[in-house]
Amino acid sequence: MSAKAIISAEFFPPRDIAAQEKLVRSAKTLSELNLSYVSMTFGAGGSTRSGTADAVSLLQNLGFDVAPHLSCIGASKADIAEILDDYKAKDIKRIVALRGDLPSGMGVLEGEMRYASDLVGFIREHSGDWFQVEVAAYPEMHPQATSFEDDIKHFVHKAQQGADGAITQYFYSADAYFYFVEQVRKAGIEIPIIPGIMPITNSSQLLRFSNMCGAEVPRWVRNRLMDFGDDRAAIRDFGADVVTKLCQDLLDGGAPGLHFYTLNGADATMKLVNRLSL
Ligand code: FAD
Repeated sequence: MSAKAIISAEFFPPRDIAAQEKLVRSAKTLSELNLSYVSMTFGAGGSTRSGTADAVSLLQNLGFDVAPHLSCIGASKADIAEILDDYKAKDIKRIVALRGDLPSGMGVLEGEMRYASDLVGFIREHSGDWFQVEVAAYPEMHPQATSFEDDIKHFVHKAQQGADGAITQYFYSADAYFYFVEQVRKAGIEIPIIPGIMPITNSSQLLRFSNMCGAEVPRWVRNRLMDFGDDRAAIRDFGADVVTKLCQDLLDGGAPGLHFYTLNGADATMKLVNRLSL
């Protein structure tokens, strides 16, 4: 296991007061884990711009080091500059820089920045080294990539534009992660690549998300989940076993940390991290 694993957790902006209360409860519970930072997603096309900023402040007031996600698709450089200046004024020191996906039906918006690498370059140009910039990585390939090699080439370019680290899309094959890291290292990029971890707690939700983002749920895992039907407790127990083993294999193999997709809950992440005795 890595000496000092970087453990972080991701949340999304709450839509109403009840959801906000749940987010605060979850964040307070997870604070027991001494997280290195927490991140807050951003709706592509700016759809959660104020929601993200408000949720970032909420978590900052709870004492977290917060990394807002920022996507560039469809945005102007002036919009992005305003957001960066606002975060800098609030003493935010990290950004997760993304291209983003347009909600379906919004067509193709050109914007001034087409790829996350353009955004990373712009952040460096506009804000210098103020922000620690994380980018996304896809061990099982980005769903729109023309080939694995092209995807690696584009990832390398994104790192060269000034990214400090990367967080991966979730996956359930440790081999896919290690192979991806090996290819990136061969291309001369040494930034930390933190595996994104999606706890398994709900079969239909997991399969729906995985279809959307191109993450592979192994056949044997899917089959077991189907067997459990509506037995939520059995799904959670099985999911915890599968994902604990994945996390342990990743850390044992040299992954520098773990980034948990919490879906604004705390229980699944707490259970996993406690089992890893971190
Ligand atoms: P890019 O790195 O720009 O890559 C997108 C695609 O373009 C890839 O197929 C790549 O190979 C290709 N490409 C890159 N550069 C070039 C080039 N120069 N020429 C041709 N092709 C190129 N989405 C949100 O909307 N909000 C979020 O908060 C959010 N958070 C995320 C957090 C993590 C950790 C991850 C893994 C994903 C997140 N996403 C989020 C989803 C992300 O926005 C989508 O996966 C999106 O489709 C790609 O974003 P990217 O930053 O990886 O894009």
